[in-house]
Amino acid sequence: MGNDKQAPPQEAQIIDAEQRLGSSNFIRHIIEEDLETGKFDGRVETRFPPEPNGYLHIGHAKSICLNFGLAAQYNGQCHLRFDDTNPLKENVEYVESIKEDVRWLGFDWGAHEYFASDYFDRLYGFAIELIKKGRAYVDSLSPDQIREYRGTLNEPGRESPYRSRPVEENLQLFEKMAAGEFEEGQCVLRAKIDMAAPNIVMRDPTLYRIRKVQHHRTGKRWCIYPMYDFAHCLSDSIEAITHSICTLEFVNNRELYDWILDALEVYHPQQIEFARLNLAYTVLSKRKLIQLVEEGIVDGWDDPRMPSISGFRRRGYTPAAIRRFCDRIGVAKRDSLVDIAMLEHCLREDLNTSAPRVMGVLRPLKVVIENYPEGQVEYLEAVNNPEDPSMGIRQVPFSREFYIERDDFMEAPPKKFFRLAPGREVRLRYAYFIRCHDVVKDDQGEIVELRCTYDPETRGGNAPPDGRKVKATLHWVSAAEALDTDVRLYDHLFTVENPAETEDFKESLNPESLTILTGCKLEPGLKNAEPGAHFQFERLGYFTVDTRDSTPGKPVFNRAVTLRDTWAKIQKSGK
Ligand code: ATP
Ligand code: MG
Repeated sequence: MGNDKQAPPQEAQIIDAEQRLGSSNFIRHIIEEDLETGKFDGRVETRFPPEPNGYLHIGHAKSICLNFGLAAQYNGQCHLRFDDTNPLKENVEYVESIKEDVRWLGFDWGAHEYFASDYFDRLYGFAIELIKKGRAYVDSLSPDQIREYRGTLNEPGRESPYRSRPVEENLQLFEKMAAGEFEEGQCVLRAKIDMAAPNIVMRDPTLYRIRKVQHHRTGKRWCIYPMYDFAHCLSDSIEAITHSICTLEFVNNRELYDWILDALEVYHPQQIEFARLNLAYTVLSKRKLIQLVEEGIVDGWDDPRMPSISGFRRRGYTPAAIRRFCDRIGVAKRDSLVDIAMLEHCLREDLNTSAPRVMGVLRPLKVVIENYPEGQVEYLEAVNNPEDPSMGIRQVPFSREFYIERDDFMEAPPKKFFRLAPGREVRLRYAYFIRCHDVVKDDQGEIVELRCTYDPETRGGNAPPDGRKVKATLHWVSAAEALDTDVRLYDHLFTVENPAETEDFKESLNPESLTILTGCKLEPGLKNAEPGAHFQFERLGYFTVDTRDSTPGKPVFNRAVTLRDTWAKIQKSGK
C-alpha cells in the first residue's frame, strides 16, 4: 500500500541464502576437524583485523559476525586487532569509530584489543632474523625497477643485482634504513624466495619499506614500516590465533603467509579464505567510500545512504537485523552480489515485533469534516503493536480538521484505485468512516482541501449497523495537535547494480537517493521521541529519529525501509 516508488528486485542476482540459514559452513567444518584432531590443542582463537583507514561497512559486519560468531560457538576468543601498518592513511578517529561499531553490533573483544604497531619492535627483530638466515635482503633497485624485474603472469621475473649481498651488509643496510639514513624509495627489505615462482606474490616480496611519516601511535619512533603480508602473519602468530579468516583476494598471499612463518619457525595459524560480501547498488570499498565523504557527495561517513555501519545505524537499522543478515548470507567460496532487499527483509523481521506503530502523513492534504463539531477534540484508542499486545494502546486526538496522504485521494480515480475519491466512503484507521463531498482548489487548480462528512456510528473504525463496507483504510493525523517536522526518504545511492564495475563509479550516483519532505504531520505523541528510537509509520515503513538533526520537541525522521517486502515475495515465488 505504500505509494513510494521502489526499484524492482534484481531477481537473477539473488543468492538462495534462506536455504543456508542455520546450516553450517565450510569454515565450521575445518574448525571441527581441527578440534577433533587436536591441531590447536582444542583452542579456537580468531581475530577481526581492520585497518583504521576508514569507517567499517556492511562487508566488515560479515567478517565481524563470522569471526566473533565462531569464537563464541566454540568457546574461544576473538581479538580486535588494528592492522595499523600504513601511517599515511590511518588515524585515531577511525580507531574509535571501529570500536564503537563492533560494540554496537553486539560483540565484545574483552581484553583482546591489539595493534599491529605494538609489535613493531618484534617485527623488526623477525626481519633481522630472516636476514641472518639468509632469507631476506636489502634491495637498492628503485620502485619502478622492482616492478619491472617482477615479470608477469607469463614471464618469470629477474633477480635483482643486490640479491646476493652478504648477510653482514644486509644487516648494516637494514639498520641504516631504520635509522633514517636513506630516503623513501631508495631501498626496501625483500624476502629471498624465487623470482621465477608461478605465484607472483612469491617473487621476492617486499617486507619493509621506508616511510618518513609519523604514526598515530608510535609517533616518530619508526621510519620503516612492515608490509601487510609480513605484519599480518606474524601478528597472528604472536597472538596465537588458530584460524586466520580473510577474504578471497588473499588466496595467493597464503603461500607467503606460510613461507614467512615457516622460515622463522614460529607458531603457525591457518589462513582460511571466504568470499567477501558485495551488495547491489552500492560500493563496499573504503577507498571509494572515502571519496564520497571527502568530496562532499554524502554528508559524512554516517550519512544514512552510506553502506557504512554508522550509516545503517543512523538510517534506522538495528544490530539484530544486520547480524541476522550476515547469518543468512552464509559463508561461501565464490563471490556473489547480494540483493539489498534481503537486508531490508531482515530489518522488517526485527522491527515488526519491536517497533511501535504510529500514524504520520508525509505529504499532507487537509480534510474538513463538515458535520463534526468545531473546537471538539476526542481521543481514540490505537493499538501500539498488533504483533505484541503487551505493548498496549495509546490515545490519538481526532477533530474536525486533519490530514491524509495526498496520494490517498484522486479526483478521477482509475478502476483499481479504492481509496478516497469524490462521493466515496473510506475508513480512517481507529476513527470513523468518512465520505468525500467536495474538493477545494486554489487559483492554480491544485487541490488544497477536501470537504467530507463522517458517520458517528462508526467510531473506532467499526462497520456501521447497516453493515456498509469500505474498500480502504487510511491513516490520518489531527491538524491542530500534529507534530510538524521533516522526514527523509532514501533510495539506492547508485543507479546501477554493480557500480564498482563501471569505469568511474561516481558516474552512476543516484540523484534521487535523498528526498527531504518538510511539513510532514505526525501524531503528537512523537514530539518527545528519543533519537535513535524506531517506529512503524502505518502503511509507510519503518522510521527512526535522526540522531544528528533532531532537537528537543522536534524530532526529524529517517525512513529506514518501506513496508513492501520484495524479498519475501521472491522467496514465495520460489525463485
Ligand atoms: P576495503 O576493501 O573496504 O578497504 P579492506 O579489506 O581493505 O576493505 P580491512 O580493514 O583490511 O578492509 O578489513 C578488515 C577485515 O574485514 C578483513 O579481514 C577483511 O577481509 C574483511 N572485509 C573487508 N571487506 C569485506 C567484505 N566486503 N566482506 C567480508 N569481509 C570483508
Ligand atoms: Mg585490507
